Amino acid sequence: DREEPNYFGAGPAQLPTNVLQQAAKDLINFQGLGIGAGEISHRSAAGVGIVNHTKEYLRKLWQIPVTHEVFFLQGGGTTGFSSIPTNLSAAFAKKSGKKGRPAYVITGSWSKKACEEAERLGFDSQVVVNAKTADGKFGDIPDVDKWTIPVAEDTPYVYYCDNETVHGVEFQEFPYEKFPGVEIVADMSSNFLSKPVDFSKYGLVFGGAQKNVGIAGVTIYIIKKSLLDYPSVKELRKLDIPITPIAFDYPTVISKDSAYNTIPTFAVHIIELVLENLIKKGGIEIQQQENVKKSDLLYSTLEKYPTFYHLPVTKRARSRMNVVFTIKDGSLDAEFLKEASDVKLTGLKGHRSVGGMRASLYNAVTLPSVQLLADFVDKFAKAHQ
Ligand code: PMP
Repeated sequence: DREEPNYFGAGPAQLPTNVLQQAAKDLINFQGLGIGAGEISHRSAAGVGIVNHTKEYLRKLWQIPVTHEVFFLQGGGTTGFSSIPTNLSAAFAKKSGKKGRPAYVITGSWSKKACEEAERLGFDSQVVVNAKTADGKFGDIPDVDKWTIPVAEDTPYVYYCDNETVHGVEFQEFPYEKFPGVEIVADMSSNFLSKPVDFSKYGLVFGGAQKNVGIAGVTIYIIKKSLLDYPSVKELRKLDIPITPIAFDYPTVISKDSAYNTIPTFAVHIIELVLENLIKKGGIEIQQQENVKKSDLLYSTLEKYPTFYHLPVTKRARSRMNVVFTIKDGSLDAEFLKEASDVKLTGLKGHRSVGGMRASLYNAVTLPSVQLLADFVDKFAKAHQ
């Protein structure tokens, strides 16, 4: 058992206590089998059941259409950075006979890393836009008329990060219509299941579990079924497309219901429990409303003190999940964190590359928790300004 945490860490992140209590029981004895969920075979009925239920819940909650497949992979978001270029380029080669050049929208450090990985693997990427400012900072999504839109015939996919966890930059809506004929790929690691998504617009959506839906060790992929047909290895070699390691080859993993190799069954079970909990809570719209309320509350409190706090992200690009702010007098940072921790508000230190503070308001962070934080932010400014 534990006291309800007020934990604002960016990931791994807080999960609902009732979910963890059930998970703790299931780790020891799953469904009365006399053995735990982390010990059963991933090929047993119970193991397969965990994967299937989790997929079903996800489909139901997020209204994933039949045109798309859901599957799980070991590894994190970073595994996606590496496996997306090779898999999606293979699918593109099957249709076009070409390698093509993947396109990247760079709005923060995670999309930048994804782009760099594609290049490291031997892809010649096209940068649609790089939102980094002259002084080396991210904090906005530039107007789409400033983007360089790639030619569809040469572009296997356009990749973007829907929510940049470090910089607190989130898309309200991606400009899908600017990319006719190009598959759209989104990293939703840090806003997974935080809002409704129109999957018909996407070739692929993926996200590591460890922020909104589970613990580290598993990544969820939602992919358009038409992207699962690849040329032979020989043909891929001819086109100079790197071969995907087998454990990350999407068609192979899907053909074995996410269990081509040993799936982290217990980590998937936690996702299953989180999804069940979200269904009971009322679903994705309810969760989105709560997320809007939480982030509005914190942003509006910070905005009350414009000479004391600084919000580095432009209003149009502000994240509902990761609220990034600094104290103008940086010498107060340590005091802020200390006083916050004294009242049990933790996990607020900003990413080392950005500094300042970051409050991550993932699905499991409650409105009362955010109210406590907002009250603290208010009191701290009054005491120190
Ligand atoms: N994408 C985003 C948006 C992230 O926030 C992170 C991790 N914080 C990653 C990718 C990388 O995930 P992992 O550490 O699981 O590889």
